[in-house]
Amino acid sequence: MKTDFTSSVSHELRTPLTSIKAYTATILRDPNMSEETRRQFLTIIDEESNRLAALIEDLLEVSRIETGTTKMKQKTVDVAAVIEKVLINLTPLAHKKNIELRKYIGDELPTLQGDEGKIESVVTNLIDNAIKFTPEHGNITICAEEANGEMVIRVTDTGMGIPRKSLSKIFDRFYRVPRPGKEIQGTGLGLSIVNKIVSMHNGRIEVESEVDKGTTFVVYLPLTVKSIPELSSAEQALYLIGAGQARTK
Ligand code: ATP
Ligand code: MG
Repeated sequence: MKTDFTSSVSHELRTPLTSIKAYTATILRDPNMSEETRRQFLTIIDEESNRLAALIEDLLEVSRIETGTTKMKQKTVDVAAVIEKVLINLTPLAHKKNIELRKYIGDELPTLQGDEGKIESVVTNLIDNAIKFTPEHGNITICAEEANGEMVIRVTDTGMGIPRKSLSKIFDRFYRVPRPGKEIQGTGLGLSIVNKIVSMHNGRIEVESEVDKGTTFVVYLPLTVKSIPELSSAEQALYLIGAGQARTK
């Protein structure tokens, strides 16, 4: 799995880098290039560099989560405020595609105990995907409510959907649904990060989708997370199956 991961990473890093190198070389080679072409090439270089930077950020996050070096902050999180913040950030992206973003927040939504930055990353990834995989003039709804002692966050879009056979793979690192003829940028890391963060909060995530109709992701988060003391992974495993109590004393 490690070799697999390393080769996927190298491939993903090489693609934007190859393009940056090629366009830079072309600009350097041709001093008489028209201003318009130069701008066009520089724009590509700029976009590809952004992609590279975002990819490195995601990879660092994956590695921090997997090596357990990421510490979960346990604080009171105002989910409504987190959603509001994410919507402010992503509205311009949605408007570019004439996509309407709707929001429903349950009355007296409780707060939850968790890591605000990580929950923001969950909401951002889900809404970013919804925008990316919804054609122009679609709409996206984000709801948050409390049900049975859990926080339920739902992101629904009217987009292209996910084929049934891909549903079990979308949380895998680097997996992207093959969409012939459509070039949609992404590295397939977003949902694997979302999935990890949700399980760090002892929550779960579900997805329902119909091709060409739309997709709904539902995240369930307990309002309080029982924190697992800092133990080795073997000890954590024992603790999780209930055999580790004596050791923690
Ligand atoms: P990244 O998030 O790393 O930029 P990505 O968006 O392609 O890249 P994920 O967020 O992990 O990767 O999603 C994996 C795949 O699941 C996507 O490539 C896409 O095909 C599919 N997918 C995710 N969300 C949706 C959605 N709302 N509608 C349709 N397909 C989706
Ligand atoms: Mg994504």
